[in-house]
Amino acid sequence: MSSTLLSRRDLRFLLHDWLEATRLTERPRYAEHSRETFDAVLDLAERVATERFAPHNRAADLSEPPSTAGGCTSSRRSSRPSTSSPRPACWPPAWTPRSGGMQVPHVVQVACFAWFQAANIGTSAYPFLTLGNANLLLAYGSAEQIDTWVRPMVQGRFFGTMCLSEPQAGSSLADITTRPEPQDDGTYRLHGTKMWISGGDHELSENIVHLVLARIPGGPPGVKGISLFIVPKVLLDADGALEARNDVVLVGLNHKMGYRGTTNTLLNFGEGVHRPGGRPGAVGYLVGEPHQRLPQMFHMLTSSRP
Ligand SMILES: Cc1cc2nc3c(=O)[nH]c(=O)nc-3n(C[C@H](O)[C@H](O)[C@H](O)COP(=O)(O)OP(=O)(O)OC[C@H]3O[C@@H](n4cnc5c(N)ncnc54)[C@H](O)[C@@H]3O)c2cc1C
Repeated sequence: MSSTLLSRRDLRFLLHDWLEATRLTERPRYAEHSRETFDAVLDLAERVATERFAPHNRAADLSEPPSTAGGCTSSRRSSRPSTSSPRPACWPPAWTPRSGGMQVPHVVQVACFAWFQAANIGTSAYPFLTLGNANLLLAYGSAEQIDTWVRPMVQGRFFGTMCLSEPQAGSSLADITTRPEPQDDGTYRLHGTKMWISGGDHELSENIVHLVLARIPGGPPGVKGISLFIVPKVLLDADGALEARNDVVLVGLNHKMGYRGTTNTLLNFGEGVHRPGGRPGAVGYLVGEPHQRLPQMFHMLTSSRP
């Protein structure tokens, strides 16, 4: 297959002639791979990018998803990313065997994502965010959290976001005010507003796993008082099945000049539209220990694959 999205010749030069990626197979971690498996993965990335990402690129940019009473949706089918298999986030080369993937070296994954981003920068943001979210949880989440939230992300059923910014706090995360209230059962109820959240609402996945920075009352001031929470759009029952809407509500969409296939959202947590268990607040699960969790979120920013 020859594509006009990227030059295979340039990619071959960068990966094999310049970076000598195949030398990585000398290491035990990548011993099962070879130049042939790297090239096969790149062939697949090219095909997925060409057949599933590129066709709706222009339509998604021309007609950004509108917001409706039920959330954010794409009105025109032609502008929607394909959710049929293989789903964008369910990209096995990006994951380690522990999480159900192929353990392809990072440099090859980056080359794969170059295909997706060349084909459709808007749609590729969804797997990009989901990979970063899952990698953060693999590094800092409990075994139960990994099982509950990462596994469906690897399967492409759940997508992920990162919720740092607030209307009054962009660069200055020390000023965030989203407030989690501890509950007797070890969970938290969150109240607050998050601004500029990419992929914050859409209909492309069964669920959205928000990773939310918030300030537990009584903690130290500034960034040292920031904790990290998993706050799903839809709560799960004990068996991991979708159960009930959490109180995470789309308030509005931010409109961009380009890159419009990725929804950018203003979200309210604990607005009272949905009251899980009849009580106020969005249900959240603490990741790691309380406080000083900002560096964990930066793990997501730096470990999204690519
Ligand atoms: C397309 C898009 C997608 C986004 N997606 C997400 C997302 O998924 N999740 C999320 O949490 N956020 C997201 N954001 C928000 C983004 O992270 C913020 O825009 C960013 O943190 C900057 O905050 P701000 O826009 O409030 O700018 P401000 O913080 O108000 O900064 C404005 C200007 O002031 C400068 N400045 C700020 N502080 C200082 C200082 N102390 N000294 C000197 N100069 C300073 C900045 O460099 C900048 O030039 C997104 C934003 C955009 C545009």
